[in-house]
Amino acid sequence: MKRILTGERTTGNLHIGHYFGSLQSRVKLQDEYETFIILADMQVLYDHLEDEKGKSIRDNVYRALLDNLSVGLDPDKVTFFVQSEIPELAELTMFFTFLVSIGRAKRNPTVKAEMEQAGTSYEHMNLGFLSFPVSQAADILLPKADLVPVGEDQIPHIEQTREIARRFNSLFGETFPTPDYLVSTSPRLPGLDGQNKMSKSLNNVINLTDDEATVNNRIKKAYSGEGHALFTYGKLFGVEPNERMGTFKPALAESVNAFLEPIRTRRRELEKEPGYLREILDRGRDKVRAIGAETLAQVKERMGMVY
Ligand code: ATP
Ligand code: MG
Repeated sequence: MKRILTGERTTGNLHIGHYFGSLQSRVKLQDEYETFIILADMQVLYDHLEDEKGKSIRDNVYRALLDNLSVGLDPDKVTFFVQSEIPELAELTMFFTFLVSIGRAKRNPTVKAEMEQAGTSYEHMNLGFLSFPVSQAADILLPKADLVPVGEDQIPHIEQTREIARRFNSLFGETFPTPDYLVSTSPRLPGLDGQNKMSKSLNNVINLTDDEATVNNRIKKAYSGEGHALFTYGKLFGVEPNERMGTFKPALAESVNAFLEPIRTRRRELEKEPGYLREILDRGRDKVRAIGAETLAQVKERMGMVY
């Protein structure tokens, strides 16, 4: 079976942008691919180090796991793992840093956009911020994934991953696949503000965990002027466009709530079993570490580091 690697940074609740951008394809493809899902807790640090200070790291990892499970990913088929529990990822990242120039790292448009959003600059950002796509390349290439289902903002990172794989292969011999990305038909769902991509960091979201009253309230308050996103949501949730917002908004809210209801139910069941969640992560850690050890043995052998 070919492999998928995908996942998210554990910065908070997942939203319907994640669902239509990536989770939905994961669910669909879990029977066709051996799927690995990374809960990227270390990647949180590049722009959340100071406001975070370790406070919500743990809760957010379990949040992301619950979100993935409650939309229908099957933990008996899919491997979930926490980035910081796999030391082999750090090791592979270290090797990869020698394959990427600083100029190339600066040319990644998503890093640049996120840097601006974080109010920093190439001079002041931390090294981990500039190089997070290199660490992401290690996430993808450690299990030698063939396919990465992602939203549009991630395409530059997959391109950088492909370059790293090619560079390594040309220097040391065929070792890594050059993975493809897969974007959904909804690769950049706009937020409730109608301005930006729906994003955890921008508070313009409908979360998969939102209860009925929250959904109603968020949609009621959603921007409905020029360029609003409400009809885009209507399309996804099967609600006919209607310029009269007094009619359209409640219909949309009802449809979103109907979609979320089974997700909420499944989540409530899973929340009762914290031991089971830890067990899923244990299994994932063991499996990925074993695969990672093989990849690294091969990498070191090809690089001549066998003593
Ligand atoms: P943050 O603001 O913390 O970066 P995020 O909402 O951008 O959070 P990520 O964890 O960075 O979420 O992204 C996880 C995956 O979901 C990526 O593949 C990303 O491209 C995809 N994704 C995120 N937001 C959207 C969106 N609005 N539409 C489609 N896909 C999205
Ligand atoms: Mg993001």
